[in-house]
Order: sequence, then C-alpha cells, then structure tokens
Amino acid sequence: MEDSSTKGLKQERKKRQRVARIKTALICVVGIWLLASMIICTALVFKVYMLEEKLDYLLDNFTVSGQMETESKQTFAKTDESAYFDLEDTTENGEWANGYSEYYSVAEAVNQKENLAGPEDIHKVYLTFDDGPSSNTTAILDILKKHNIKATFFVIGKEDDESKARYRQIVNEGHTLAMHSYSHKYSVLYDSLDSFESDFSKIQNYLYEVTGQECLFYRFPGGSSNHVSNTDMKEFINYLNTQGITYFDWNVSSGDATSQAYTAEELVDNVMKDVVKYKTSIVLMHDAETKTTTVEALEPMIEALESMGAEILPIDENTTVVQHIAAASVKQQ
Ligand SMILES: [Zn+2]
Repeated sequence: MEDSSTKGLKQERKKRQRVARIKTALICVVGIWLLASMIICTALVFKVYMLEEKLDYLLDNFTVSGQMETESKQTFAKTDESAYFDLEDTTENGEWANGYSEYYSVAEAVNQKENLAGPEDIHKVYLTFDDGPSSNTTAILDILKKHNIKATFFVIGKEDDESKARYRQIVNEGHTLAMHSYSHKYSVLYDSLDSFESDFSKIQNYLYEVTGQECLFYRFPGGSSNHVSNTDMKEFINYLNTQGITYFDWNVSSGDATSQAYTAEELVDNVMKDVVKYKTSIVLMHDAETKTTTVEALEPMIEALESMGAEILPIDENTTVVQHIAAASVKQQ
C-alpha cells in the first residue's frame, strides 16, 4: 500500500512538473511571439515612415521637374526665333495641352513671351536653392562669397543649432532668405487651407525669430503647378496674395532633383542652354545633403554665366516674377 501510494505521489509530482514545463514553454512561446510581433510592427511603422518621406521627396523633386523638362523640350524644340511662335500656339494646340492644359495655359499667361531675350538684352539670372539649410549650405555660401554673388535660398523649418546658424549666415552674407514651407510634407501642407496657413505662419514666424528678417518670398514645394495637392492651389495663392507674399516658381531647371544623376558639367549645360533664352531666368537648384554635384557645378556655372555677360542677382521686390500659375490671375476671395 505504502509503495503504491509513494509511486502514485511520484507520478503525480512528475505529472505536475510536466504540466509546469509545458506551461513555461507555452509562456515562453507566447512571450517570444509577442516580442517578435512588436519588433516586426515597429520595423513596419518605421518603414512606412521612411517610405512616406521618400514619397514626399519624390513628389517634390521628380514629378514636377519631369514636367518642366517635357515642357521646355516641347516649347523650345525649334530655334529661339520660333520659340515665340510655339508659345503663341500653345493654347490652340490641343495635342499637347492634354493633361497639362491648366499648367500650360497659365504658364503662358504669365510672362514667358515677354521674357524671351533679344540679342541686345542683358540676361538677369537668379540662382535659387530649395530645401536647405543643409550640410552643403556653407560650401554654397563660400563659393558665392568668392565670386561676390548673391542668391536666394528657399528654406524649410529646421530647429537644430547648426541650421539656425546657417539661416543667419544666409541673411548676414546678403542673400535673400525665402520660404519653402515649414514641413515640406505634401500630405500635410496641401491637405487644406487651414493646414497651409498654419504651416506658412510657422515658417514665417520661425525665420523672423531666428534671423530678425521678415521673409517676403515663397516657393511652393513642387511649384504652384504641382499636380499633387488635394486642394486647389489657387486657394493657397489667394492666401499668399492676402499676406503680401510673392511666390516664385522657376523657368530654368538645373535638373539636380530629377531621377537622372547628372554630372556637374551636365547641370551647368542644363542651365546654360535655357538661360540664353530669357531676360529673366529663375534657376532651380537644391541645397540638400545629397546634392553634392550641385555644389560642384556652382563655380563653373557662375563662371559660364559671367562669361556670357549675365547679371546674377538675389530675388527682391523688383524681380520679374516667374510663376506657373499667375498670382495676379487669382481673384481675391
Ligand atoms: Zn522642395
């Protein structure tokens, strides 16, 4: 009897131990599974965030630049003399108005016809840098200083001390500090007039706080002709009009933001082939960490512009506006 009950107890204990082991194993499995899920979720959230950032960047720098390239090829495929007539034909030419109708008709409505340069005209060139400040800002400023040239920086909101120093350096060295939105996030910025207004106030107040400079010029991320905004761009244009802010698009693109990786020489060529056409050229470039080719291209570009007798100037209130959608065409609301 005693033996069998001891045996029974032993078996019972073994059984309990087995159950306990199974429980521990189950808890471990569930724990590992939870941990793995959390890690995977975190990684996915991070990935989504990175993709959103990338998408914003691509939407800003690629879609519109691509359109600009198409436009200039189609408009100026012939000689400079015929360019004038090409522009005149634009509105009647249904063939290439497709998909770009608003874009082209408004681009023509602005001042490109009047802007075509004759042989006697002096070329005024405005070098503009978007998306800064960045680790390249100082290098860009040094090149500009060396050549005694003033340019325009369309900056976004960055709060670290180095960026603050760069905003101040831009102002102190006599360049035009201009706005390019605070967040540079299409999804937020162009979501509604309210979000555009709050982003606008944020960048304007911030730059004033940091530099003591009241900024009067703006460039829409993606340009005023971007096809990304969910809201009619004219609502934002109307708002800028009411704030006394002039916005600038561009009519010359260096191509430093397209998917194609241009060499520094090609960037210079891209600019020079278009600058010769216009009395006023607003040249689109980027001040961003990865755009080192832009920095490389800057000095040869300045030299080429100077040797053709161009005047290189910072944007001010006397600059002829270059806009894809004419601000003046937007009625006060
Ligand atoms: Zn930008």
